[in-house]
Amino acid sequence: MVYAVWLFWISLAFVFAERLCPWRKNQPLLRPRILSDLVYLVFNAEYLGILIALAAQRLLSIYNPEPFITRNLMADKPKWLQFLILLIVFDFLQWCVHNALHRIPFLWRFHKVHHSIVDMDWLGDWRFHWGEIFVYRSVLYMPAVIFGFAPAVLFSYGILNTVIGHYAHANLRLRLGPLKYLLNSPQMHIWHHNHPDSGPINRNFGITLSLWDWLFRTAYMPANPPLHLGFEGIETYPKSLPGQWLAPFRG
Ligand SMILES: [Zn+2]
Ligand SMILES: [Zn+2]
Repeated sequence: MVYAVWLFWISLAFVFAERLCPWRKNQPLLRPRILSDLVYLVFNAEYLGILIALAAQRLLSIYNPEPFITRNLMADKPKWLQFLILLIVFDFLQWCVHNALHRIPFLWRFHKVHHSIVDMDWLGDWRFHWGEIFVYRSVLYMPAVIFGFAPAVLFSYGILNTVIGHYAHANLRLRLGPLKYLLNSPQMHIWHHNHPDSGPINRNFGITLSLWDWLFRTAYMPANPPLHLGFEGIETYPKSLPGQWLAPFRG
């Protein structure tokens, strides 16, 4: 089954789950910016990923890194081990990249698009600037291709990332119990999006695993959600999709 079909069914499941078990009761299904977020979903989930994967393969056919690293190191390893390495090593890399997106002013300009969400739901997972995907994907796709991870393993990892990404952004009451120390969740990720008015910032950088935040003391998870989401100056931040795509280049 192609990724788009998985994405459709996973998204539909979260639409129903949010209606059945909402955490913040007064959040409507048809919230502001839903249409532009649907465009983000289609563009970011499908087309950009394919373009970057093709670019990574092309680059590797021109530039052969073999003298410096062992190519296809993972190709003969069992699939469960490949999956485990992806889950732990790649997620840690994503955690580091996410930290950089917040702490390096030039990268924060791009990541601000994701933090412009004020009505958080599963769809918010997909609102991010295409420039940001180049940073994330080049850190992940290049080693994945070089080390020869099986396409089926990469695909399964992508599906798990999608499910946890939807879940972490969803307006869902569903709590994880002790698993909160391992996996990202709505109760944790919403505090990553809080406005500086509402509490501490630069917490909860986890993408799929929350483990890194607990280990490196960036975890923050009070019982209730923050009062406001966003960042300093969000009132004047562009709301349209073209405006958000151009915003990082305007300084
Ligand atoms: Zn962030
Ligand atoms: Zn987010």
